Amino acid sequence: MKVSPVDIPRIFNITESAHRIHNPITADKLATLGKALRMESGARILDLGSGSGEMLCTWARDHGVVGTGIDMSQLFTRQALLRAEELGVTSQVQFIHGDAAGYVSPQKVNVAACVGATWIAGGVAGTVELLARSLGDGGTILIGEPYWRQSPATDDIAKGCLAHSISDFLLLPDLLASFGQLGYDVVEMVLADQEGWDRYEAAKWLTMRRWLDDHPDDELAKEMRAQLSSEPVRYATYTREHLGWGVFALMAR
Ligand code: SAH
Repeated sequence: MKVSPVDIPRIFNITESAHRIHNPITADKLATLGKALRMESGARILDLGSGSGEMLCTWARDHGVVGTGIDMSQLFTRQALLRAEELGVTSQVQFIHGDAAGYVSPQKVNVAACVGATWIAGGVAGTVELLARSLGDGGTILIGEPYWRQSPATDDIAKGCLAHSISDFLLLPDLLASFGQLGYDVVEMVLADQEGWDRYEAAKWLTMRRWLDDHPDDELAKEMRAQLSSEPVRYATYTREHLGWGVFALMAR
């Protein structure tokens, strides 16, 4: 029997294959965040769910940081390595393909990040706890997470946003307060906006359309066709109006 290496569902590897950033944060805002954190050259970063490595690679180039990213997508991990080569930072960053659940870095880091993948440790609280185990004294945790811009009136609206229920996410003030309840100061944040959401979501549509044109007989073609037909309206009706997203920088009190 052929044993496949661990990976994320194929549909995400297809729809996000052309994304450099797999989140509603734009390149500009990622750069803003990199500056906002005032990292010293040589600062060490751990990034769980590193995607195609844009954060580590650009911050290595712009701020001289070093670090490791772990991601379960083979494709995204390969793309991260290529991006490191392209930006000339292969001596500063490494990317490991694998499951980041439970991953603790062998060496303490200055910044421990999970940007848009907090399910790997069962939600925000579990992820903060996991990241804290890799963090050196005085270090910073980065959490990228959605929040409700306006509370959905019904669970059906939450489901339209691809959440399971309203309780999946908090309003921004409540999310910020929740970090306090975990014993952390929020020391910075960079929030996405609707145009950032468009870059993340709408960029999938052209990728889907091109993939469909090239793979009409693929076993995923029917599902992809259905998604492409419905996604723009679903997104504009639900996600774009209701969901915010941000990266929050935390330091233990
Ligand atoms: N932080 C990146 C990617 C966010 S998307 C960015 O902002 O661009 C979420 C990422 O989590 C995807 O790249 C996906 O492959 C990865 N992922 C999902 N489950 C994972 C797991 N258990 N371990 C490691 N990575 C995981």
